[in-house]
Amino acid sequence: MSTPIVQLRGVTRSYGSPPTVALNGVDLTIEEGEMLAIVGPSGSGKSTMLNIIGSLDRASAGSTEIAGNDVMRMSDNELSALRAFTIGFVFQQFHLSDGVTALDNVATGLLYTGMPPRERRRRAAVALERVGLGDRLHHHPRQLSGGERQRVAIARAVVGEPKLLLADEPTGSLDTKSGAGVMQILGELHDAGTTVVVITHDQGVATGMPRRVHISDGEIVADEREVAA
Ligand code: ADP
Ligand code: MG
Repeated sequence: MSTPIVQLRGVTRSYGSPPTVALNGVDLTIEEGEMLAIVGPSGSGKSTMLNIIGSLDRASAGSTEIAGNDVMRMSDNELSALRAFTIGFVFQQFHLSDGVTALDNVATGLLYTGMPPRERRRRAAVALERVGLGDRLHHHPRQLSGGERQRVAIARAVVGEPKLLLADEPTGSLDTKSGAGVMQILGELHDAGTTVVVITHDQGVATGMPRRVHISDGEIVADEREVAA
């Protein structure tokens, strides 16, 4: 039996007053090493769910366990440490720093480790090679295509070898071909043992994923798994 890396029980998140309920009593278990898509229309609660899984946000009610930690009982400092060592994030808009090279963008993913800069850069180069950008180390983001920028962002997310990689619409700003390249890299990370959660409202991206969790109006309405052929 594998170990759950994510366990949401009865998770509700509401905003403001009168409250808007973004997530309504969600139960979700993700085992270590899984790859899944969270699929649903805009406004259905996908980002809210990913932010709670990533401990960027706290539930209004219910329990959230990440890598064996009860998130609701943790201090902000403990949550920062959990994120830094266990979770990598990729966003639709890349969130790279324009003024620094691909190499230094990726090396920032190791700042918290206290490693010397030379070692951070060495590992950043390895991570960039892993996403097929070994020949772009000294390019600045604006000198790269959208697909290449997202691959830099993925390298930054995984350079510290997190167990859990969370991607919120990672292909949302890319053309179909670049998007397919990004999905291929996420698939390779999954093959290498990383747990990968991808949010998408694109059925084409979701198709072919081993598990698809469908969300609508803040509730999980279907949880499909690929049956091995
Ligand atoms: P999705 O990622 O599926 O598009 P979200 O999780 O971003 O959906 O949003 C779900 C619902 O919660 C939406 O109705 C949205 O307007 C609302 N919502 C999200 N974030 C906030 C916030 N910070 N304040 C108020 N409402 C929010
Ligand atoms: Mg969203």
